[in-house]
Amino acid sequence: MAKAITDLSKLCVHTITTKPWSLAEALEHYASAGVAGVTVWRNHVEPIGAAEAAKRLADSGLAVVSLCRGGFFPAETKAQREANIADNLEVIDIAAAIGAPLVVLVPGAVPGMPLEAGRAQIAAGIEAVLPHAEATGIKLAIEPLHPMYADDRSAVITLKQANDMAAAIGHPNLGVTVDVYHVWWDPDLEREIRRCGPRLLSYHICDWRTPTRGLVTDRGLMGEGCIALRQIRGWLEEAGFDGYHEVEIFSDAYWSGDQAAFLGQIVEAYRRHA
Ligand code: ZN
Repeated sequence: MAKAITDLSKLCVHTITTKPWSLAEALEHYASAGVAGVTVWRNHVEPIGAAEAAKRLADSGLAVVSLCRGGFFPAETKAQREANIADNLEVIDIAAAIGAPLVVLVPGAVPGMPLEAGRAQIAAGIEAVLPHAEATGIKLAIEPLHPMYADDRSAVITLKQANDMAAAIGHPNLGVTVDVYHVWWDPDLEREIRRCGPRLLSYHICDWRTPTRGLVTDRGLMGEGCIALRQIRGWLEEAGFDGYHEVEIFSDAYWSGDQAAFLGQIVEAYRRHA
């Protein structure tokens, strides 16, 4: 079990967590709350463009931890798969432009496509964009998603599958992301976290609410649910992970409230439960 967190030097917040805020508003509030890092969602870059986002990020004093998100490689047609690859090349360029060292990949899936075929297309898509990632100095992380998303968001549903894929491709710019929301239930989680080693590139936290009111936008604040956050962080630390703890909460309930109050709750929950 990991020790209690005593400072905010590893706390990172995803801009999607405070979705109603613009990038500028998020950066200002995060910095004044003592948050150390930010993971930028593409939809927060698009309204102002990468050059302006880069300037605001540099001025914020926050560490730019990663860009979310690339991926979504599988498709029924070759033309669409090529379009998906082109989109990922663009995501890598945005990451380079804003100073994000990592792009997190939501692997993708097509309803009705066998999951094995989906995973083969994901691997092929990643291999197609890795040379550009390497040339621009950007790392890519495969994020396994909870199996409830296996139909249309991710054919990669366990950390083992993500590790297997990253190991098979075997590229220094490719690793994995552990998001507790997706993998907390996995009986192989401890073993697979230990297996990651230096492939473990990022760590996303929130909590699993009971009952869950929605499959996408009902994530809980740390401590609100049943995820053994400290135990999982302990496994990561023992595996050598020294990166940020990234709060990624999609929540219609929290998004509908006051975001400054919510950020205060995030900082408090992080100290108490993460
Ligand atoms: Zn995540």
